[in-house]
Amino acid sequence: MTNPFENALMQLKRATDVQAFPEGFMKQISVPNREVRISIPVVMDDGSTQVFEGYRVEHNNARGPYKGGIRYHHDTDIYEVKALAFWMALKCAVANIPMGGGKGGITVDPKKLSKTELEKLSRGWARGMADILGPKKDVPAPDVNTTPEIMSWMNDEFMKISGDTTGATFTGKPLDKGGSEGRGAATGLGGWYVFSALREKYNVQPGSTVVIQGFGNVGGHAASIFSSNGYKVIATSDSKGGIVKEDGIDVKALEDWKKQNGTLAGFPGSRVVTNAELLELPCDILIPSALENQITFDNAPKIKAKFILELANGPITPEADEILFDRGIPVIPDILANSGGVTVSTFEWEQNIKGEHWTEVDVNAKLLEILNRESITIYEKSLSAKTDMRRAAFIVALERIAKEMGY
Ligand code: NAD
Repeated sequence: MTNPFENALMQLKRATDVQAFPEGFMKQISVPNREVRISIPVVMDDGSTQVFEGYRVEHNNARGPYKGGIRYHHDTDIYEVKALAFWMALKCAVANIPMGGGKGGITVDPKKLSKTELEKLSRGWARGMADILGPKKDVPAPDVNTTPEIMSWMNDEFMKISGDTTGATFTGKPLDKGGSEGRGAATGLGGWYVFSALREKYNVQPGSTVVIQGFGNVGGHAASIFSSNGYKVIATSDSKGGIVKEDGIDVKALEDWKKQNGTLAGFPGSRVVTNAELLELPCDILIPSALENQITFDNAPKIKAKFILELANGPITPEADEILFDRGIPVIPDILANSGGVTVSTFEWEQNIKGEHWTEVDVNAKLLEILNRESITIYEKSLSAKTDMRRAAFIVALERIAKEMGY
């Protein structure tokens, strides 16, 4: 399988085959401005020392400070972080927010660490990266397996080292540590706003069936938002596997079940499926909300969903994109569909810099306005360029970045 950064470059090629950009711009946008790797030594609870590898990739800052989350995962490597940083640059341009693109990570299975070890590791990442971070330089946020609490540890460490008093260097912080109202749900809610702006254009009926891969921050919020808006969530999953309940899942009850039992399996009235089977279930709307490379050349012909909303980053490979396009299955791409998270992160950054605190109603209203407008902009580009929504979103983002770079 190709690595995610190669996939991202293949997506870039597919888009720029539809609309060409100047050669000098293409050379610059195809590589990150900077890649940083650090070793993070942690004294473990048993007194031994382990050294973890941490990353920050700063792809492009033509439109503003680098912005993007930090991922903790045992499979995270520099190629994954490079792909995610590149997508962030495009995503911020799609949402038309004043940010560039970056991403961070640590190769670690955080479930194997105690809370003390996790805090030491997180503070170590912030210390190791402190020189390149700052409200006007590079502003990280949460991603897979990183939480508001982790952001508050990192922010605290960074403020001690740098003397920064704005607290605006990390977003996705807890509310009592400078976080924004609405940030927790923002990616799922943003996905809902994008979906709502485009639903009628793709003839998706209200109350349709929904399958969601991933039941974490993004997938969990998406499940409860779609469900509370009358859609029938029939299946969802986590890293251990999924469950199906054709007559609809009570999402709140499933959250409680997972909290009590540590697994989705055994939820009353449901049957167990693997993550691979889940993706191929008959449904109206499929919402990948876990990791990259889930829909590939191999399973794309077997996908039965009528419409796909990509809330995870990079869940569909470029080969699978071609197959889905040929099969007439619309895909609303990650850089539009999940841009609600970085948009509200940017609101948090702005509130911290200005010393303000906005209400959740204000935050969500601003988010809705942006995502409505940009969803329609991308849709219209897909019509005028006679292409799919991913290539249209790439083209709009590249136009905006190229303009800032003087092309
Ligand atoms: P999370 O850690 O809160 O949740 C991830 C979920 O995916 C968990 O339910 C986990 O069990 C599940 N999972 C892990 N491995 C899996 C596998 N192999 N198969 C199926 N499920 C698996 O992370 P998150 O913040 O919800 O992020 C999910 C996706 O959304 C990622 O691609 C992330 O980059 C993207 N995203 C997140 C945000 C955000 O604001 N958190 C914003 C934009 C995009």
